[in-house]
Amino acid sequence: MSSQSNDTICVQGGWAPKKGEPRVLPIYQSTTFKYETSEQMARLFDLEESGFFYSRLQNPTNEAVAAKIAALEGGVAAMLTASGQAALFFAFFNLCSAGDHVVSSSTIYGGTYNLLSVTMKKMGIETTFINQDASEEEIAAAIRPNTKVLFGETISNPGVMVLDIEKFARVAHAGGIPLMIDNTFATPINCRPFEWGADLVVHSTSKYMDGHACCIGGAIVDSGNFDWEAHADKFPGLTQPDPSYHGLIYSQAFGKAAFITKATVQLMRDLGAIQSPQNAFLTNLGLETLHLRMPRHCANAQQIAEFLQSHPQVAWVNYPGLPGNRYHALAQKYLPKGSCGVISFGLKGGRDESIRFMDSLKLIAIVTHVADARTSVLHPASHTHRQLTDEQLIAAGVAPDLIRLSVGIEDAGDLIKDVEQALRG
Ligand SMILES: *Cc1c(COP(=O)(O)O)cnc(C)c1O
Repeated sequence: MSSQSNDTICVQGGWAPKKGEPRVLPIYQSTTFKYETSEQMARLFDLEESGFFYSRLQNPTNEAVAAKIAALEGGVAAMLTASGQAALFFAFFNLCSAGDHVVSSSTIYGGTYNLLSVTMKKMGIETTFINQDASEEEIAAAIRPNTKVLFGETISNPGVMVLDIEKFARVAHAGGIPLMIDNTFATPINCRPFEWGADLVVHSTSKYMDGHACCIGGAIVDSGNFDWEAHADKFPGLTQPDPSYHGLIYSQAFGKAAFITKATVQLMRDLGAIQSPQNAFLTNLGLETLHLRMPRHCANAQQIAEFLQSHPQVAWVNYPGLPGNRYHALAQKYLPKGSCGVISFGLKGGRDESIRFMDSLKLIAIVTHVADARTSVLHPASHTHRQLTDEQLIAAGVAPDLIRLSVGIEDAGDLIKDVEQALRG
């Protein structure tokens, strides 16, 4: 684990050029890599030697950026994927096969909800959704003998609910399973879930990490803390021979790197959802300023949340930085430097008024994306979550009148002026 501050890791982590090498992380725009002898290549394919052979599995640019993200989270290993969705699927599928079961918070990103409730269900992997604010006993009751992982988001998208990570970790570990956390909204600048007992972290790097809405990407990070061999019967994929590598056993051959190695050499080999080196390069440029941008996102969001809360046309505001917010105490514990730039709120007048308000904004744009430098707004019930019924919306933590405001790093005064004029209409 790196002893450096995350501020230094953001700028310099992952890439340490030797004499005469480029100061800036290069884009290794190559599908393949050269070796001197047939024997060297054979050892790579037997996983007896580490090295790059084909960019469907690994690429040096990606590897450097993954190492930076691993260091930022305080993990032992990481990998990049083509998208956040791919990271989530790979992380779940690295633990689960047909007949297995997942327990997940119900108030999660809509894409992850669909992945678990529809697509993975078709593969024979079932999910029980629980209320993340439920008691330890209630959450534990959802764990079955075939459950392989407990899952939640540090700060839920779009509900902006803060997860009690320690509570989730206790329940997972009592059930002999790892806790996996989607840390996209908090980023490791504001919260490092491994310090609170999480075992695996996933990211959509498309959000604050890139930060400029330039490239889709994902990452999986392993803390190295979960003891797969102590629960060998539950995780045969990690602790039993892999016939596709002459009977290699990941937990024995790779120790703390077993999870990421298996996801790379088996799932990435077979499914191929790798991030392009070009996108990894852009993600790295974003990461170089993540530690500067996150405090600004939080400070701007705090000012706008306070403005909204005091406005007579606003029915409710959910931002964990507001005293009196339902998640304020959890935010103070897990996110003492600030939560994120995302606020959810509702207007008096409901759905119709929300649409009129959004159409009146001038500086703030209606876009699907969230968590980048430019302030944006979305009405999930009309946009991202429009397939869901009002009942399903409420179960997903999305009130039908909820407006999601993703506060960027512009001047807060200019943003408030825009919100004010749009409320006036
Ligand atoms: C956006 C998002 C994802 C999906 O990431 P993509 O990069 O869009 O595939 C997953 N989880 C959370 C919390 C997100 O905000």
